[in-house]
Amino acid sequence: MLANYHTHTSRCQHAKGEDREYVEAAIRMGIRTLGFSDHCPWVFPGDYVSGIRMRPDQVEDYFSSLESLRKEYARDIDILIGFEAEYVPDLMEGQERLLADYPLDYMILGQHFLGTEPHSTYTGSPSSDEKFLADYVDLVIEGMDTGKYLYLAHPDVLHFIGEDAIYRKHMTRLCKYLKERDIPVEINMLGAYQGRHYPSDRFLQIVKEVGNSCIVGIDAHSPEEIANDYGFQVCRELIEKYQLPMVEKLV
Ligand SMILES: [Zn+2]
Ligand SMILES: [Zn+2]
Repeated sequence: MLANYHTHTSRCQHAKGEDREYVEAAIRMGIRTLGFSDHCPWVFPGDYVSGIRMRPDQVEDYFSSLESLRKEYARDIDILIGFEAEYVPDLMEGQERLLADYPLDYMILGQHFLGTEPHSTYTGSPSSDEKFLADYVDLVIEGMDTGKYLYLAHPDVLHFIGEDAIYRKHMTRLCKYLKERDIPVEINMLGAYQGRHYPSDRFLQIVKEVGNSCIVGIDAHSPEEIANDYGFQVCRELIEKYQLPMVEKLV
């Protein structure tokens, strides 16, 4: 693996380890470009504080820590500073203002919710509601259309348990959209090695038919997950099974 753009830090409250340990694990694995993409803060109205992402007041420390590691390890690895975020139209302006003065390298879209916390349902909750699936695909396409995001993380996070024909209809729409724009489909290593509902076989079957390229995203929530041979092996097997062309580097 030459590049990984999907890496968290302990600031999101459900990842662990020091920033430095992620960098050193990546160097040990021969990764040349390590992109950090921690769960991006939202500026919520009122006093709600999310328990699954970094807080707005941690952005400063995130950039200063990673910028200093970038200098320190410049000979060994390229460090990029990004975020993973949902696309939530109502909150975009506040987020853009929060990040405006920072040297942000990229963002990836990870649509864990369709709306604002805490009242929105996790998109990975099993559902047979076609509207939930259709709304997910519509929102993700609208988000990618802004041009803000490098790629779409775990595109198959939406856990549809209804009819196959309905799933195919909407996910084919998403895959065709990504293919037209030459945006690779992420094979999410965390989901693959933990046996989550994604990467999903029926999704990858559609990916194969539409002819998308793919990129592996480690989605590391600990340094150990970067040095995870088993995770790489599971992803490799999926890529071979569906004969997906791989993109190694995006930035
Ligand atoms: Zn996470
Ligand atoms: Zn992630």
